[in-house]
Amino acid sequence: MFEKNGDGAHYGFMETQQRPSTLLIIDDDEADRALYRSFLGNAAAEHSYVFYEAASGVEGVARFKELHPDCVLLDYNLPDMTGLEVLEQLGKVTPILPVVMLTGQGNEQVAADTIKGGAQDYMTKNIVTAEALQRTIAGTIDRAGLLGQVAQQNEELVKAKDAAEKADRAKSEFLATMSHEIRTPMNGIIGMAELLFHTKLNEKQEQYAASIRSSGELLLTIINDILDFSKIEAQELTLEEKPVAIEPLLSDVVQLMSSRAGENRVELILRWPHDENLPLILGDPTRLRQILINLLGNAIKFTKDGHVLVNVKTLRQTEDGCARLRFEIKDTGIGIPVDKIDKIFGKFTQVDSSTTRKYGGTGLGLTICKKLVEMMGGQIGVESVLGQGSTFWFEITAPVLEEMSAASLEDFRDCLKGRRILIVDDYALNLDLFSDYLAVTGADIRGVSCAADALEELRAAVKSGAPYDIALIDYSMPKMDGEALGQKISKAPDCYGRPGRILITALGKKKNFQTLAQSGFATHLFKPVSPDALIRCISGVLSGAKSPATAQNAPTVLGDTLPQIGAHVLVVEDDRVSQRMAKSVLGELGCTFELAGDGQEALEILEDKHGDYDIVFMDWQMPVMDGHEAIRRIRGQTDWGRDLKIVALTANTIHGDREKCLDAGADDYLSKPVRIADVVQILQKHLGGLRLGPPVGLVR
Ligand code: ADP
Repeated sequence: MFEKNGDGAHYGFMETQQRPSTLLIIDDDEADRALYRSFLGNAAAEHSYVFYEAASGVEGVARFKELHPDCVLLDYNLPDMTGLEVLEQLGKVTPILPVVMLTGQGNEQVAADTIKGGAQDYMTKNIVTAEALQRTIAGTIDRAGLLGQVAQQNEELVKAKDAAEKADRAKSEFLATMSHEIRTPMNGIIGMAELLFHTKLNEKQEQYAASIRSSGELLLTIINDILDFSKIEAQELTLEEKPVAIEPLLSDVVQLMSSRAGENRVELILRWPHDENLPLILGDPTRLRQILINLLGNAIKFTKDGHVLVNVKTLRQTEDGCARLRFEIKDTGIGIPVDKIDKIFGKFTQVDSSTTRKYGGTGLGLTICKKLVEMMGGQIGVESVLGQGSTFWFEITAPVLEEMSAASLEDFRDCLKGRRILIVDDYALNLDLFSDYLAVTGADIRGVSCAADALEELRAAVKSGAPYDIALIDYSMPKMDGEALGQKISKAPDCYGRPGRILITALGKKKNFQTLAQSGFATHLFKPVSPDALIRCISGVLSGAKSPATAQNAPTVLGDTLPQIGAHVLVVEDDRVSQRMAKSVLGELGCTFELAGDGQEALEILEDKHGDYDIVFMDWQMPVMDGHEAIRRIRGQTDWGRDLKIVALTANTIHGDREKCLDAGADDYLSKPVRIADVVQILQKHLGGLRLGPPVGLVR
């Protein structure tokens, strides 16, 4: 029945159809080996085997390496080593061991160690039956085969994952490089267009320059979206933790967006909670701003007429010192169809994705917002009715640094008690808003929606012997605007009384505020007006403070004339266009400067003339010696290099450059494209305002 070939292999039942399995029997007892062979060589068995044999552990390991058998029958007690030691040796050849251990009777521990050591199964030696042996070995071969397949698939998956990660890293690197390469010429385009506005231009030229600038800004937004998105995909996006005061941040964003809203004839309204003060939280102000700008930008973009209302409130304070804040951006725009509402937070998704679509965009904004909100431990969502408008909302949880106390307003509130206040605004929502804000003061409030009604109301009040103390007047109204109304009131005080007049205006409106006093205004307020600013302002006007030229809540704005700063600057920059940009910007700001083409040249200049410069603008990526190395070496000059003010300039925004620049020893950091307002701000911040013009804010 058995044949023996030259290898010492025995064949059993070669007539069966299936490929025979190779079985290595490692046992020093010749009689046992023969027994197993006879058990497995049974004609009724489903499998057929080619048998190989070894009489010691060493021989067994050697045969295993050479044959890679389908199964091993391993005796635990071998003359030269134990079965466990053999298992260990076999484990070095392959991770999956198709081994059945033959153990002594009643030795549970050995059985457990055997399985732990990697064997598939074990049998107690003296009670092995033919049927049990056949079943165990067939099962072991099947299981080991399956495990082998799984291991191979895992290996392939790991390889594929490695390859994908490598490709992803290459993609990130590529994007970082692209970002730098695109941002550098963008610096030239936006900066030069901006400079054009400070030259004498006719109307057509001004339009052309405005188009260049706005197209540049749009392109920059798209680049930033794509970069942010790729950072999110590569899991490289991290959040900063800084103190964030919500009120100024929201005011700033709303003011920033107000000119865009004005262009679309959309009323942009920010409603503050009038019964609470928002806390100072710990969060990432830049990313919070980004979410708000994105949602507000969409709301304005998709609204033709009507308004965009921003609401904010604290939902609750949690026990661990965190606050849950809710922001809502509600528009009266085109709305979103029900079947699209679930999809718009997906990447590259737009409701109208046709090539003829009316509204531009990448379809990435909401994906980025969603990710950022989630990173802030929050949620984002939308409710919308097609043709009526949408409400985008998001909630975030953030640690509270400081409760804002409401007590400081008490005095101001008291002085408004019983005073008569007239609010004039054509937009009903604004009337509600201001009435809401003032309700807590106990003032007697009335709202009218046009100048004619206001005059009527003022006249009636004088007649009744209870003239108005204050008139809050919106600037933009149809038929007669706020300023004209103010003039009318001034001309006939006997008829209309002498209410303290406050003009409410959007920042985007070009206005000469010096003329407001002539129109009878005590002062003006920029939208969005917070309850705090409104109450303080009215109380100031009631107590006789007059300052029409400066709004009580005005962000400082870069005007048509640039401040003359007069600093002496060393500009270290290799790129020609950026050099010209620097030359023009600094020239406009009344600064003198010298140029160095790389870090090495800068060091040589500074060694001789370090005392001449007030500040150094240092590009980051340069040939010969880059900004990082140059700053490091300057800071190494103990006698003069420590106190020199250095601002790093970089076009690369993907890999935490800010930290890299500051770590290298820069005092500050500007990312390209550099705006004039940013340069002014940096110079003012670091040169201490000694020879500087008026303060300059962010808006431009
Ligand atoms: P983008 O605006 O760049 O196309 P977003 O991800 O910001 O990308 O928005 C995705 C889509 O969601 C928009 O194209 C638009 O179809 C829809 N959408 C977003 N905000 C509004 C809104 N306020 N009103 C109507 N549709 C909106």
